[in-house]
Amino acid sequence: MTSEKDLREQLATCTRIFAMQGMIGVFGHVSVYQPETKRVLITPGMGSDKGSFRPEDMVPTDLDGKPLEGKNGPPVEWPIHTALHGARADALAVAHLHTPYATLFAIAKREFRPVTLQGAIFTDGVPLFPEAQLITTPERGNNLLKVIGDKRAALLRGHGIVVVAQNLQEVLYTALVLEDDTKKTLQAVTLGEVGTISPEECRTFGAEIALERRAQRAWNYFCSLEARWDRQPATGRSELFP
Ligand SMILES: [Zn+2]
Repeated sequence: MTSEKDLREQLATCTRIFAMQGMIGVFGHVSVYQPETKRVLITPGMGSDKGSFRPEDMVPTDLDGKPLEGKNGPPVEWPIHTALHGARADALAVAHLHTPYATLFAIAKREFRPVTLQGAIFTDGVPLFPEAQLITTPERGNNLLKVIGDKRAALLRGHGIVVVAQNLQEVLYTALVLEDDTKKTLQAVTLGEVGTISPEECRTFGAEIALERRAQRAWNYFCSLEARWDRQPATGRSELFP
């Protein structure tokens, strides 16, 4: 079992990297779940300075969103996280983000399909949660569960994205890839018809098998960038996989 100390450290680091990459700002939150203790650790809500988070800033709650210690409560959309952590054994880390490019796919009436080899982790697609509402109740959390099924991510209509993974390294990588593939799709559209990676090609590439290793390498890479980040709002860092 990963200790709560280590999970707090990783959660703060993961969120600072999202901030450095311009993928989290006023909005957005990330969580990690410890199934052995049934404790959720979640980042503070709207307006908190995500780029400066420390392990002690993380908010522990139970699966009903009840804060377990400290004076801060979880973000209002905590049911996104508790619904997924409670229902899926593979959803130990969850990120809800309003990233600039993937969110456009939650607005445009266009289905997401992978366009790069990294994007092949989304073989099964990224479903759209149709309710244009914040997910602030367990009922809406359950509706999200039904939409996302066993997929890695969902688009929230007119709102943002949700990404699910087995750990924070993989949630970071998965969200980076989704943002990068949506960005590249948008850019490629200006050149003409966009060629997507077919489900069969995705499976042949075997992105699933390599996910753990790729996620760990990306994590190490972004941790070293973050360690010397000047804490200025992300500018010029939007080429995620140059
Ligand atoms: Zn939101």
